[in-house]
Parts: sequence; structure tokens; C-alpha cells
Amino acid sequence: MSIPTDSFNSATLFDSTALPSELLNSIEVGVVILDRTFEVKVWNKFMENHGGMRSVDMVGKSLFSQFSEIDEQWLRTKVDPVFNLKSPVFIIWEQRPYLFKFGCNRPVTCAADHMYQNVTMFPIVDKAGHVEQFCMLVYDVTEQALGKLGMEHLNEELKTASRVDGLTGLYNRRYWQERFDEVFKLSKRRGKPSTAMMLDIDHFKRINDTYGHQAGDKVIKMLAALIKRCIRETDLAGRYGGEEFAIILTDSALDNAKVVAERIRQFAQRLEVEHEGKTIRFTISLGLAEFDSNIKGAMGWLELADQALYEAKQNGRNQHRVFESVTL
Ligand code: GH3
Ligand code: MG
Ligand code: MG
Repeated sequence: MSIPTDSFNSATLFDSTALPSELLNSIEVGVVILDRTFEVKVWNKFMENHGGMRSVDMVGKSLFSQFSEIDEQWLRTKVDPVFNLKSPVFIIWEQRPYLFKFGCNRPVTCAADHMYQNVTMFPIVDKAGHVEQFCMLVYDVTEQALGKLGMEHLNEELKTASRVDGLTGLYNRRYWQERFDEVFKLSKRRGKPSTAMMLDIDHFKRINDTYGHQAGDKVIKMLAALIKRCIRETDLAGRYGGEEFAIILTDSALDNAKVVAERIRQFAQRLEVEHEGKTIRFTISLGLAEFDSNIKGAMGWLELADQALYEAKQNGRNQHRVFESVTL
């Protein structure tokens, strides 16, 4: 049973003594009545069961003396409109997960370590039209909250999945390009040096032909892991095509980028990929292009790195090549 929270949209004439105690104690909602000083007047069964405090021990006591977790200053301010404007006040779990720190009602199956609560507070107007007391309704919304939080978690996972290449865990081409555009715009504005790198496995078709497609996949995966180890957190590495990778070395001038390129190339040359009892060795070629303010767009920049890669291939592979300068 639940009382709709929007049913108290105006000051309500409410006589607590007239409430049948059966109703008060069988309802699956916390009912608390307090006066201006926050002295407890009514404390129903729901509050007894979840709070572990009996009604006889609560009535006549200050709420704050019994529940130290409640921020007194905050709650007093929050309740102000109940007395001054005779209007109801709501606290929803998204704002504050709970007012009373109650345990979860199904501790074994429940994933939360506390009860999520929505709280409604509304004025009790006496016959003279004054508000000396107010009623607080405490709703257990743990299931709703967990459902929503679970969904958010799932959405976060889906977002990551849409950005990442399944085989390598690097950014996929679409997302990498989005980020690359941002780096390009930043480089244009700030004039800081960054270097674009294109990287391609040499004679990869032979690896597939000799050892099979699965072995090829394993090589791609191992190379991606190697690239991750050789670059910084702030660099952007993406799987650009089948066995082609694009990397932006942010805030790196060419000299530094050459060192990184050589490190990746040498590690790759030494890497041994084991597959079905066979050892696969391979090499890579790389092309580098430093940002230059004459470059028109992000794709133009990447094409320069691709040209350098093409030269590396032409020149015998297993090496890096640099695009020297943009002449316009
Ligand atoms: P080069 O040295 O000139 O780069 O020679 P290459 O043989 O590597 O030539 P190329 O880059 O054109 O070949 C890429 C091959 O990679 C072609 C395609 O069959 C294979 N390939 C593309 N994607 C995948 C993949 O996801 N897994 C595997 N195993 N092979 C792939
Ligand atoms: Mg290749
Ligand atoms: Mg290729």
C-alpha cells in the first residue's frame, strides 16, 4: 500500500488522534508527526520496524537527539515552508538517498546497504488555522532507486562499448576521429605541438595466410596491448582499420614522437606471438606528422602521417618515416 505523494498539495486539516491506529500501524509507509521543535508526537509501526526504536521511546523526544545522522540545520531550513507557507515539502532520493538511515528490508537479496527514501512533509492545520505540527511520510523506494541506478550503470557501459573496438580495447575509428577533431582544434587555438602517428603491420596478409585469421587477430590484439604500454594516458590510440592504428601523441613535438615510434617498432619486432604451438614474429611501419598551423583540417593532418607511412613501406618497411614540412 502506498499513499501518492502528490495527494497533499495544499495545507491539510489533519487530526492525528482521529487516525485509526490499525491504519497507522499497518500502512507500509513511515508516518511521523512532529511539532515545531521537532519533538516526536507520532511514530508508527513502519518506523518502529525499520528504525529499531519503539514508539514509546520516541514520543516526547527530539528527533535530532535520536537520529544523529540527520543534518539538523538542513532539515530545519527545508521544513520552513511547511510552517510559513503552509505548503508541503518533498525530499526525493535523487537529492538525498535517505533521511533516516534504515537498513534494506531484504538484506540478503537487496544490493543496497540502506533503504532509499522519498519523504513528504505537510502541515497540520489546527482548528484556529495555525500550524503547530507537521506530518512526515517516509516511503521506501529502494527498488525503484536500484532499478534506475542499474540502468544508469548499464547506459555507462553501453556508452563505453560504442566507443571501443571489441578486439583491441582501443578507441574505434568513429570515436577516435571525433577526439582527433577536438585535438586538432585545440592545437590550432593553442599552437601546442602534437604529433599524429599512423601504424600498419607489415605483410599482414602473409600472417593470415600462413597461420590463419585467428592467429592474425591475436597479433592485432598483442600489438594493441604493446601500443597502450608505450604511450601516455593522455595520448589517443585508435584502431583505424584492420591492422592499422592511428595515435595522437598530445603535447608531443616530433623529437619526442620519434622516440615513441622507435620504441613501439622495436618492441613489435621483438614480440613473439604464440599460436597453436607456433611462434609468430612480425614488424610494423610507422608514419609521423607534427601539427603545423598551415594544415587545413584534422583529416588533412592524418593524411600527412599516412603519406609518411607510405614512404616507410616504400623504403623497405620495419621503420618510421616523418612528413617533413607542409609547403603551401
Ligand atoms: P603491407 O606491408 O603493405 O601493409 O602489407 P599487408 O599484407 O599488411 O597489406 P594490407 O595492409 O593491405 O593488408 C591488410 C590485411 O589485413 C587484409 C585483411 O585480410 C587483413 N585484415 C583486416 N582486418 C583484419 C582482422 O580484423 N583480422 C585479421 N586476422 N585480418 C584482418
Ligand atoms: Mg599492412
Ligand atoms: Mg593495412
